[in-house]
Amino acid sequence: MTDHFDPALSQTDPEIAALIKLEERRQHDKVRLIPSENYVSRAVLEASGSVLSNKYSEGYPGRRYYEGQQNIDPVETLAIERMKKLFGAQHANVQPYSGSPANFAVYFAFCKPGDSVMGMALPSGGHLTHGWGVSVTGAYFASHQYGVRKEDQRIDFDEVARLAREHKPKLLWCGATAYPRVIDYDKFAEIAREVGAILVADVAHIAGLIAAGAHPSPVGKAEIITTTTHKTLRGPRGGMILCDDKHKAAIDKAVFPGLQGGPHNSTTAGIAVAAKEASTEAFKKYGHAVVANAKTLAETLLSRGFSLVTGGTENHLVLADLTPKNVPGKVAAKALDRAGLVCNYNSVPFDTRKPFDPSGIRLGSPAVTSRGMGATELKAIGNWIADVVEHPDDEKLLARVAGEVKSMCDKFPAPGIQL
Ligand SMILES: *Cc1c(COP(=O)(O)O)cnc(C)c1O
Repeated sequence: MTDHFDPALSQTDPEIAALIKLEERRQHDKVRLIPSENYVSRAVLEASGSVLSNKYSEGYPGRRYYEGQQNIDPVETLAIERMKKLFGAQHANVQPYSGSPANFAVYFAFCKPGDSVMGMALPSGGHLTHGWGVSVTGAYFASHQYGVRKEDQRIDFDEVARLAREHKPKLLWCGATAYPRVIDYDKFAEIAREVGAILVADVAHIAGLIAAGAHPSPVGKAEIITTTTHKTLRGPRGGMILCDDKHKAAIDKAVFPGLQGGPHNSTTAGIAVAAKEASTEAFKKYGHAVVANAKTLAETLLSRGFSLVTGGTENHLVLADLTPKNVPGKVAAKALDRAGLVCNYNSVPFDTRKPFDPSGIRLGSPAVTSRGMGATELKAIGNWIADVVEHPDDEKLLARVAGEVKSMCDKFPAPGIQL
C-alpha cells in the first residue's frame, strides 16, 4: 500500500475491531481467575504493538545478519540487562517466542534425540514440555516422569531421587503449571548434582513472584531457568532463558539459529518495559499481595467445605477437587463463567476422571491482584464460587452473581484497559 491514507483498525477491519472491543469489555467486567493470565500495563501494550514489529534482526545485539539495527540492538540490550538485574542472573536470552519454545531450546542445547530426561508428570501439575507423552519432548526423548505423593499431594522427592539414580537424566526439570506449593530448589539441586543432571527450573507461572521476592529464587541453584514473560511477570506473550555464563553460548545458539529465526522485536521491547516495571517497589508489593490474595481465597473455600489439593496454597494458585461437591470440574467452570468468574477445569492428582472432563478447577489471584483487589474482594469471590459450584444449574443465581461481579469490577479499573 502506497496510499497515504492510513485508516484505523475500526475502518479497515470493523469485525476484528469490534471483537477486540468486546474482549476489552469481557476482561473488564469479569473476575479473571485463570492463574496463567494477567493484565499488562498500557506501556507494555504500546511497546508490544509498535513498529518494532516491522524489523528483522536475526542474531544477537552487535552480531546481526541484517543492517538497520540502530534502535533494535539497544532495545534488546535493555531487555537483557534489566532481566539479568531483576533476577540476579549472569545471562538472559529474551528471544524465545514463548514458554514452550524456551523449553525446546534447552532440550536442543543439551540433548540428542533418545537421551534420558526427567520432569513432573502432567497429572501431578507438570507442564506438557517437561516430557509428557503427547509433547515432542516426550516423543523425542526417553522421558521419565515423577509425581506427587498420594497422602499430601506434595512433590515426592523420594521418587525424584530414585528415578534420577535409575535413569541418569541429562536434564532434570522442576516447575509446574498446577502446583500450589513452593518449589524446593535446594532438594532438586542436590539430586541433580548427585546424578550429574542439569537442573532446569521452569518458573513460567511464578516468575513475577520470584522477582518480587514472594517465592524463593532458583538462581544459583538451577543451572538453567526458563520462563514465560506474560504470566505473573506481567509482560507481553514471550519467553526467556536465564543461565550462568558457562551455558550462555549453548543457550544462545540453541535459540538462534537452532530453533528460531528473527526475534519478535516488539515483544522484546515489551519485555524490557515489563522488567522495568517489575523492578519497582510497587511490583514487590504486588507479588506479595498475589500470594496473600490466593491464601484468602483458599481459606474462604475451605470454610465453605471445599477440598483443596495439598490443603491450601503458598503461591498464586488454588486447585480445588470438586469430588466432595459432586460437581465435575467442567460443569463448575462453565457455570462460573456464566456468573462472571472465569477459571479453568483441571485434573487433580490421581484424578479418576478423564483429562477433558476432570474433577477439579484451577483458580489464581494474579489478574485480580493487578486490579488492586484485596482480602474483602477475594472473600466475596470465594463465597460466590462456593454458591455457584453448589448450584451450577440455578440460572437465576448465576445471573445475580454476574451482576454483583460486574459492580465490583467497575470499582477496580484493569491495567491497560480504558473503556
Ligand atoms: C505456561 C507454561 C509454559 C508454556 O508457555 P507457553 O507460552 O504457553 O508456551 C511452560 N512451562 C510452564 C510451567 C508453564 O506454566
